[in-house]
Amino acid sequence: MPEKKTLVMKFGGTSVGSMDALMKATQIVKDARVEYPRVVVITSAMSGVTNLLLDCASLAAKGKIDSLPNAESTLREKHFSAANALIKDEGLREETKTGINSLILTLVDLCKAIAVLGEASPRALDAVASLGERMSVRLLGAVVKDAGIKSKVIESTEFIVTNVHYQSAHPDFKVTTEKTRAILDPILDDGMVAVTTGFIGATPEGAITTLGRGGSDYSAAIIGAVLPADDVWIWTDVDGVMTTDPRIVKEARTLPEITYSEIAELAYYGAKVLHPKTIRPIVDAGIGLRICNTFNPSHPGTRLIANAKINGKVDGQVVKAVTAIRDQRLVTIEGRGMLGVPGVAARAFGAVASTRTSVPLITQASSEQSICFAVPSESAELVISALKAVFAGEIEDEDIDRVWMTEDVSIITVVGVGMRHTPGVAGQVFTQLGNSKANVLAIAQGSSEVSISMVVAAADTELAVKALHGLIVKKP
Ligand code: ADP
Ligand code: ASP
Ligand code: MG
Repeated sequence: MPEKKTLVMKFGGTSVGSMDALMKATQIVKDARVEYPRVVVITSAMSGVTNLLLDCASLAAKGKIDSLPNAESTLREKHFSAANALIKDEGLREETKTGINSLILTLVDLCKAIAVLGEASPRALDAVASLGERMSVRLLGAVVKDAGIKSKVIESTEFIVTNVHYQSAHPDFKVTTEKTRAILDPILDDGMVAVTTGFIGATPEGAITTLGRGGSDYSAAIIGAVLPADDVWIWTDVDGVMTTDPRIVKEARTLPEITYSEIAELAYYGAKVLHPKTIRPIVDAGIGLRICNTFNPSHPGTRLIANAKINGKVDGQVVKAVTAIRDQRLVTIEGRGMLGVPGVAARAFGAVASTRTSVPLITQASSEQSICFAVPSESAELVISALKAVFAGEIEDEDIDRVWMTEDVSIITVVGVGMRHTPGVAGQVFTQLGNSKANVLAIAQGSSEVSISMVVAAADTELAVKALHGLIVKKP
């Protein structure tokens, strides 16, 4: 007997964010069952909910809980209006609303506790942030069931086991594999759709953790890899991975195929359409990945492929996509006395690491007189203080003249595997940017030659993305 095919589908925030979206998602689940006897559905929180929850927590940390009743009613209205419209079975509807309501009351309790403490610990923030998925899974599960699809709701905290790195927890793949199979296989083998939460897991002791903002994509990859599934489909609000963010350039086009290394660079350099951690489990497990549009389900979307055809060029295009990460600062350490002093870079990045800040880009200086790298704006002050502390001696001796940062900047990245085989791409990129009058503050080329990144002032972001997107439209 052939193996029964398994499909993991993840619905993003917009894809479950309204009555219309929930109806479309339900139809998609129904249709998928025709080809796949085993289906796991993973849901994000309804759009806007995670931000709302985290805003409540950060206000509470400042002692402000006056707006909690407002947040409560927004959450009730959002979830209950969909439940009322879409769940016909009265018992199921009331049970769903009661479950969601008790999670809303948990939010209130957590925020009051945070206000008393005057501080929101990473653990408390994860408990708060998890409520969005815990609410939406009940709603979507009930809507799916009410539509006549045999299904079971289960929270991923039951089987995704992570370390205690709250807000960006890492799964223990061994334990997660055992638990996921033990819990999901019987549901799937019973012919039921398993409806579960994205974004969240739990420590071995049972404390709720999150995988990082936008982490539901990663949940889909983890679950898909450990079952393993035949295919993972990420349902979002655009027709797949596009040549750039369609919110910046409306002419952006869908890429029918994208290679592992291209999507990895795109996701890492800010294309929100896929969380960067999604790719590795998918590639390691050798399963399929497709990104598609809940609001246009007949569109094939984007398929992840191992290798590009003809030297990586698609229709002769070398640059395939452009992306931007906003809200960064460039930090520079400079001084003539740094020349030849061993270990300066190691100490600098050690100091940055001590603030738990990640560095998306390091630029190569032509001499040893300066080190320059990007950090998220929100961490920049902290990084500067850590650097000044670690180099206090060198600063006093004037071996280091300055540790300073720019205003807000953006990192713009062009991506395409064909760039590796095509001389002169960097020249075209800089000419195009130069013509656009966007001023380049720093550059870096990925070691794999699949990407080139440029740093521009925040105000030049759109100008630069539009200009570089011109390279895709126009044949290079
Ligand atoms: P979801 O809630 O479904 O996870 P996200 O908002 O996280 O959706 O990601 C989808 C959004 O990513 C799109 O609406 C689009 O604006 C943005 N985006 C940025 N870069 C790209 C790109 N290259 N291709 C497609 N979408 C992109
Ligand atoms: N709801 C979570 C967030 O907004 C996770 C996700 O949507 O992927 O970050
Ligand atoms: Mg997302």
